[in-house]
Amino acid sequence: MSFRPPKGTDDLLAPRSQSWREALGLWEDWSARYGYPLVMTPVLEATELFERGVGETTEVVTKQMFTFTDRGGRSMTLRPEGTAGVVRAFLASGGQGPWKGAYSGPFFRYEQPQGGRRRQFWQLGVEYLNVESPVADAEVIELGYRYLETVGVADLELVVNTLGDPSCRPAYVEALRRYLDERRQLLSPESARLIELNPLRVLDSKTDRPHLDDPPRMTDFLCEPCARHYDGVKHLLDTLEITYTEDLSLVRGLDYYTRTAFEYVGRGLATAQNALGGGGRYDGLSELLGGPPTPGVGFALGLDRIILSAGKEPGSHLDAYLVYETDVTEAVVVASRLRRTGTRVDFDGEGRPVEAQFRMAARLDVPVVLVYRGSDLPVEARASGVSHEMGLDEVPEWVRRSRDT
Ligand code: AMP
Repeated sequence: MSFRPPKGTDDLLAPRSQSWREALGLWEDWSARYGYPLVMTPVLEATELFERGVGETTEVVTKQMFTFTDRGGRSMTLRPEGTAGVVRAFLASGGQGPWKGAYSGPFFRYEQPQGGRRRQFWQLGVEYLNVESPVADAEVIELGYRYLETVGVADLELVVNTLGDPSCRPAYVEALRRYLDERRQLLSPESARLIELNPLRVLDSKTDRPHLDDPPRMTDFLCEPCARHYDGVKHLLDTLEITYTEDLSLVRGLDYYTRTAFEYVGRGLATAQNALGGGGRYDGLSELLGGPPTPGVGFALGLDRIILSAGKEPGSHLDAYLVYETDVTEAVVVASRLRRTGTRVDFDGEGRPVEAQFRMAARLDVPVVLVYRGSDLPVEARASGVSHEMGLDEVPEWVRRSRDT
């Protein structure tokens, strides 16, 4: 049989996997700082959840879902996105009042694989439910922005827009439909089909958007509460000194957004894959699923693209490699002591000659090599061509200091 992973999926091994571990570690940290506890939902959901929650006319639902019938005759789908599952879990738990959750994990879409576009990919996201104030939108936008900055995304740009709500959007959609209908000849068959089904999504089309000169703007149609909300979000972003651009054609691919929509773009990446993530407000989603009114706002970031964009060389997954001149049992005990005090250390488990141990340390490209010669002798720590001697008890602190500098 072939050892290759399935089309559009990847095996992630060291040293590349270390970049993932670091980015996921930062995600744990940043999402916790903003008060988002971990939420974990199944990778597998009833197909109906995405049909209702993402929208039956969306590309994700019509073309990209991994759907199958299980042994009990139920139609199941590997989750293509996170929000519908998290909102379902909130409703299942009988949740009420303000609620936050952060997630990270694999998602699945049947796409034509290319750089930054995979069939299995990793997303990080948050959802903030039951808070209607623009404070929630701004907080969510800020969290994603600060995280991406810290990970080291090159040329990060934040784009924002508003999509109105069910009271003001219909008039805008009608105006847009008329505008598109007059230009039907210019559009691809796919976009022409969307004029009736969901004209907003035509604005999302990378091929057709350049042919559309000066389309109607949602901001000219906003009702007073939506306009106030949008101003509130922008005012908070200004106060937090977060730079953004407004793009009136940013509509996002999924059906459930209301009011705020935003996207993080890594200008350092090729256009086809520079959308690092995005999100928005989805006040009507819970009702689409049959739940009570539950306003919400959130985002999802694509980790594959974030790591491409950050372009950082991964660090070592170890702080040190232990080379020992004693028997292997003594090395087991020494490594255990170091590990229990926080040092990431590894050693040869087969008692091989010292030269072979040094070769392994070089292959692993560790920042520190520890040479252990016996319990009554100092440990030699070699780093960047310089050698230091110290007692075993001093090693963890020394390693920690050299890691932080
Ligand atoms: P979306 O839910 O489509 O807005 O996706 C949010 C983010 O997830 C995108 O901006 C991408 O960074 C990432 N993403 C979506 N689909 C894929 C995919 N097929 N492969 C890799 N990353 C993806």
